Amino acid sequence: MPGISLIGLVILLFTVFLFIPIWIRFEKKRRRRKLKNYAEQKGVSLDSLEPNRSKISHRKKRQVFSRDAHRCVRCGSDQHLTIDHKIPRSAGGGNELENLQLLCLICNQQKGSSY
Ligand SMILES: [Zn+2]
Repeated sequence: MPGISLIGLVILLFTVFLFIPIWIRFEKKRRRRKLKNYAEQKGVSLDSLEPNRSKISHRKKRQVFSRDAHRCVRCGSDQHLTIDHKIPRSAGGGNELENLQLLCLICNQQKGSSY
């Protein structure tokens, strides 16, 4: 190969694959530090902040569906079901099982306008 030798290419690839995971780990730490600063500014703990920011896990969604028997808890419909936060996330509600319920789209919209 002209220009670049095989050994040069191997060293290049090795360096790239060695440094990418280090860089990713560094980025994660940096993001976590940023979140921690944000939590300190707001005067809340990091743990209370993170569940609100993260999405509901698939495992938790399955738990909500089976607990509410795959039906809307208000009207009993089994169509267009959504997972609803009893206390909205904007009002400080988290992703705890107790704060989640199954609502059909219609009930969810009615609830949204009445809250
Ligand atoms: Zn409903």
